[in-house]
Amino acid sequence: MRIGHGYDAHRFSAGRPLIIGGETIPYKLGMEAHSDGDVMIHALCDALLGAAGLGDIGRHFPDSNKEFKNIDSRILLRNVVEQLLARGLTVHNVDVTILAQAPKMAPHILAMVENLSADLGVPPDRVNVKATTTEGMGFVGQKEGIAAHAVALIKESQVETNSTCCNE
Ligand code: MG
Repeated sequence: MRIGHGYDAHRFSAGRPLIIGGETIPYKLGMEAHSDGDVMIHALCDALLGAAGLGDIGRHFPDSNKEFKNIDSRILLRNVVEQLLARGLTVHNVDVTILAQAPKMAPHILAMVENLSADLGVPPDRVNVKATTTEGMGFVGQKEGIAAHAVALIKESQVETNSTCCNE
C-alpha cells in the first residue's frame, strides 16, 4: 500500500462556471484557472501522483501548455489513473474534503462521488467526498476562493513469485 496527499486552492472569478468534482454548481462566480478550475479534482490528482511517487499535477499538465487550456479536469484525473495502472498501481480508496464558505456543496456530493468512482474505476463506497466551511475564517471564509484536501491509498500489484524457486 502507498499513501498520498494533495492540496489545492483557487480564487473565485466572474464569468466562469463553477465546476467541483466534475459537477457544474450554480453560482455567481467560478474558479480562476488555466484548466476548468476543478480544485477538488486537482487535489485528488496530486494525492494519487504523490502516492505513486510521480511528482505533482503541475509537472504532468503544465499551465504553460495551451493543450490544457480550460481542459475538463476529469480528463486529467483519468490520465493520472492510467499512469498509475501502467506502473502496476491501482486505487484502493480516496477521501476528499472541500473547503468552501459558499456555495453549498451538500446537494452535489453524491453526484461528485459517482463522477470520481467512474474516473478512478473503483466502487462508490471507496470514494468519500465531504465539505466544510471555515466558519468565516481565512480566504475560504471570506469567500475569496475554494480549497480542497485529498488523500489516496493505492496498491502495488502482487509481485509474481516463482513457485519452484524455494521448494527444492
Ligand atoms: Mg489547481
